[in-house]
Amino acid sequence: MIPLRPNIATMDGYVPGFQPPDIASWIKLNTNENPYPPSPTVKEAILRELGEDGASLRTYPSASSELLRQTAGRLYGFDPSWIIMANGSDEVLNNLIRAFAAEGEEIAYVHPSYSYYATLAEIQGARVRTFSLTDKFRLADFPSRYQGKLFFLTSPNAPLGFAFPLDYIEELAERCDGMLVVDEAYADFAAGNALDLVRRHENVVITRTLSKSYALAGMRLGLAIARPEVTAALNKIRDHYNLDRVAQAACVAALHDQPYFSNHCELIKQTREFFTQELREINYTVISSEGNFVFATPPDRDGQRVYDGLFERKILVRHFSDPLLAHGLRISIGTRLEMEQTLSALREIG
Ligand SMILES: *Cc1c(COP(=O)(O)O)cnc(C)c1O
Repeated sequence: MIPLRPNIATMDGYVPGFQPPDIASWIKLNTNENPYPPSPTVKEAILRELGEDGASLRTYPSASSELLRQTAGRLYGFDPSWIIMANGSDEVLNNLIRAFAAEGEEIAYVHPSYSYYATLAEIQGARVRTFSLTDKFRLADFPSRYQGKLFFLTSPNAPLGFAFPLDYIEELAERCDGMLVVDEAYADFAAGNALDLVRRHENVVITRTLSKSYALAGMRLGLAIARPEVTAALNKIRDHYNLDRVAQAACVAALHDQPYFSNHCELIKQTREFFTQELREINYTVISSEGNFVFATPPDRDGQRVYDGLFERKILVRHFSDPLLAHGLRISIGTRLEMEQTLSALREIG
């Protein structure tokens, strides 16, 4: 027997969304990737970083991702000491658990939201508690004082797409004895965000990713915004060179090209509104979304049947077997043409 820790030996491990090998032959709407390429300045910056013969790769990258933190700090209105860069926001979520929750201590998240928090807690040996939602998308059972070490609030929520109002998030922050982590992976597609709460409450952390809104899922770039005491702790935990040179160059270029970024976010939001309306025309129930995806329920509430029908037509969406979600599908927003093709397929499937 290999002497693994028992929690690692028995855990299932997270299963990411399916990435088909023949990706070009699918309409791929299952992992909330951006349908558009990143800003053209990203490729230029990567090639410039590599240089003629790739010699820059001989030397280690900036350990503190200095330029990125300055750029992100300017963009979001924070001193760079309040920013920590991550190799995908998944990395910083992991390090938050390592920093705040010892073995046997409790973390919490909303069910349904991003189930990866549970996997990360399991690795750490932390206990997990979930809070459920009312039909008005508020927490059904959040205590007047929550004493767990960390509470992960995904807003906009994935997979449902709604966002919590700012004053409600603030009230939750005040009710948390531990840290409130607002996972804002989709905030760039939303009407608002919770950045102000980081300034007002010392227990609030915001996480962001460049995977979705900046079209850089393949590059693995995320960040957290928090008090310098928190970023200093997270800095002790992470790999010293967590972002490679190429990713750092890509990140700075992507954050600088705000006109390209805003135009493409706007396009995705317009397509989302178009797709939502058309789905409602064919009697789907659609939650109004502030992300780059919608959660849609067919009239017969059989998500699996519609998933299979789309799969046969080489359209990949996300179906969850979770009983709270099995009646619907999470469909990422692609190009206008991809969404029109998806709508035709849905009309055919009936
Ligand atoms: C996609 C996603 C992440 C992970 O982002 P990466 O930066 O790609 O690791 C985190 N949280 C939520 C809610 C997401 O949907």
